[in-house]
Amino acid sequence: MLRTSTFVLYGELRDRPAAAGMVLLASAALVAAIAFADYLTGYEIRLAILYLLPIAIATWMVGAAAGAGLALASAGAWLFSFLSSHPYAKDFYFYWEGGIYGASFLLFVALLTRLRAALARSDERFVTVLEGLDAAVCVEDARSGALLYGNRRFRDAFGAPPAFLRESGEVFDEATRRWCLVQSRPLRWTDGREAQLRTVSDITEMHRARELIERHREAAHRTARLVALGEFASAIAHELNQPLAAIATYNNASIRLLQKGEGGNSGAHLSDLREAMEKCRDQAKRAGAIIQRLRQVLRQPAPALAAQDLGKVAHAALELAAPDALEAGVALELSTGAGVPRVRADRLLIEQVALNLVRNAIEAVQALPPERRRVLLATGADAEGRATLSVADLGDGVPEDARARLFDAFVTTKPGGLGLGLSICRSVIEAHGGFIRYEANGARGARFTFALPPA
Ligand code: ADP
Repeated sequence: MLRTSTFVLYGELRDRPAAAGMVLLASAALVAAIAFADYLTGYEIRLAILYLLPIAIATWMVGAAAGAGLALASAGAWLFSFLSSHPYAKDFYFYWEGGIYGASFLLFVALLTRLRAALARSDERFVTVLEGLDAAVCVEDARSGALLYGNRRFRDAFGAPPAFLRESGEVFDEATRRWCLVQSRPLRWTDGREAQLRTVSDITEMHRARELIERHREAAHRTARLVALGEFASAIAHELNQPLAAIATYNNASIRLLQKGEGGNSGAHLSDLREAMEKCRDQAKRAGAIIQRLRQVLRQPAPALAAQDLGKVAHAALELAAPDALEAGVALELSTGAGVPRVRADRLLIEQVALNLVRNAIEAVQALPPERRRVLLATGADAEGRATLSVADLGDGVPEDARARLFDAFVTTKPGGLGLGLSICRSVIEAHGGFIRYEANGARGARFTFALPPA
């Protein structure tokens, strides 16, 4: 049970009449004991000041009325015990002194009550602000980790401090499936012990907005790529149109010459025919040169080859795909096999291949029931000593008729798909001297595996 207040004593017993009664009784007993001691010592030592103790206890713990009652009782006890052995010359002096005591005690009660109210108000202000905060705030004992304080937001959201609170920065809370920003700083608690103040702000919406921007940016990139692809295609069409038209024209001329040749007079037509065929060949060569030139323009920089660990590649792909997987509620698992040889590869390109396969797998299972939303990455070695990386899912797999052309460009079953992912994967893997293949993942799902020769 959490306390919402740091001050625990004042007013505490107001709602507990039995405990208040006990305190009042003990205070009254203390008053009687002081009066008795005062009487026994024959007023050689003045003990009346001690009445302040039971009065203070009753005022602080039970309330002003109890304190005032005890103040009057204390003044009465003094009057009674003093009078019994010290008769005054004039009654007025005696009652005057008793009155002074009574007034002093009552003043003491009033001051204590004011002090208590001031403390309660300042505590209330502090608690009201903390309770009204939108962020969850808690204070923990730095050594034991025990919860010392938690505001309303914290109690509603967590109850007990969740494990992720030990971390700092942006953290995903599995239980509530929300993103939190956890900030911690050391603090000295009211009783002097070392503590940690932690604030937890819900940043799920901000996170979503960031992801949305990221996705828009990716969509914009994809559009830009498509535009570039369109321009490339129309450039090819434009450049090739002219030589192809010329080839067709020379071909027609050659056919006509051949037809004329069949009717005799072949010697004269033969040189014309050769000339047309040569022009045809030149145009075909030109078309080839144009394609060659365009390829040179678009050629990728040479891959940066270095020895790579496929386990690390798989891990990096997994981290890159984690936001998508989280969004889609898909669990990503990694199993790294023993004795996987290192491969000589361009890290970036191979990571892209693995990421492509993982993204495809996530897309294949994201609309399925939770128990099927799992993607497993596994590294291993095949019988020929090649290092392998496979991505398996529990989706519906690739239909039989689509398997043969799966790695061809522009083959897609997705509404917004380009159908270039797997074809690029194959080009990259083959450029590294390896191969990529598809197989059914046991009874259910797809498994894409690529293998690369050892470094
Ligand atoms: P895209 O993802 O743009 O469609 P890809 O070349 O990456 O292009 O994929 C081609 C097709 O292969 C997809 O449209 C899909 O039909 C199929 N495919 C790829 N991965 C999987 C998978 N894990 N499960 C089922 N089908 C898949």
